[in-house]
Amino acid sequence: MAMAARSAGAAARPTLPVMRTVADLRRAVAAWRAAGQTVGLVPTMGALHAGHLALVRRAQADCDRTIVTLFVNPTQFGAGEDFAAYPRDEAEDGTKLAAVGADLLFAPEVAEMYPDGFATTVTVAGLTDGLCGPARPGHFAGVATVVTKLLLQSLPDAAYFGEKDYQQLLVIRRLARDLDIPVRIEGVPTVRDADGLALSSRNRYLSAGERAAAVALPMILRHVAERLADPTRVVADETARARDALLQAGFTRIDYVEVCDAETLEPLAHVTRPARVLAAAWLGSTRLIDNMPVSSA
Ligand code: AMP
Repeated sequence: MAMAARSAGAAARPTLPVMRTVADLRRAVAAWRAAGQTVGLVPTMGALHAGHLALVRRAQADCDRTIVTLFVNPTQFGAGEDFAAYPRDEAEDGTKLAAVGADLLFAPEVAEMYPDGFATTVTVAGLTDGLCGPARPGHFAGVATVVTKLLLQSLPDAAYFGEKDYQQLLVIRRLARDLDIPVRIEGVPTVRDADGLALSSRNRYLSAGERAAAVALPMILRHVAERLADPTRVVADETARARDALLQAGFTRIDYVEVCDAETLEPLAHVTRPARVLAAAWLGSTRLIDNMPVSSA
């Protein structure tokens, strides 16, 4: 079914097929494969912004066909998190995807993804022990399970994920390798607003005052990343100062500010190899995350 209807006399608008079942998705992919075409997959929870569209464009640059998935995955939200409130606007998302020329939107119902009797969970050890893992119990198991399903349902050549969710990107790389899923996992740099705040579907929860304060997060992380390019500097000193600066700027709670190995996420005391500074902090009831590379000298 095409989402963008044509009205009489109006110029033809781009159309975007929307599929709800795994069977339909597999039929579409099989037809592309039979024609010798490559396929890219962009998993999302919708409420699409320019960050998501950067993933779509990257997939389009690499692959003949691009599938975008829209599924607000209940199993990756904890009790008391924002599953019910999470912004949902499939019509608006469809319009944006049609405009950029995505080939297919896969938007299954919860019952299609988790039918009665569903009993399997994918967990990735180690990488999920720190950072957002302890703060969001069960989150990465929910993400790993749904992404594994999406990869196996569509069997793309490549799947695209944002560096904005850096720990998630590494978790997904790990599970694809460990489970021998034949797909390239590609990371795409974070898309930011003009003032530096990383685009996020959750930014719309921020009041005007909170939005103004939010810019401190990327500014402070950038400062830490720049200072730690000097390997003699002590990570714990820089992260302690960053925590103070975030609270000073109006953040109400800090889950973590850490500097970790860019591949293993092992916490570092000094930056002597490729590293990432990562943070999660709250403005009122909104939790923001961000991260930046630290290039060791
Ligand atoms: P979400 O819909 O928030 O689950 O995100 C879907 C995908 O978009 C994930 O791979 C995210 O990392 C990615 N993404 C979200 N925000 C951004 C951003 N500002 N820049 C680049 N990628 C992003």
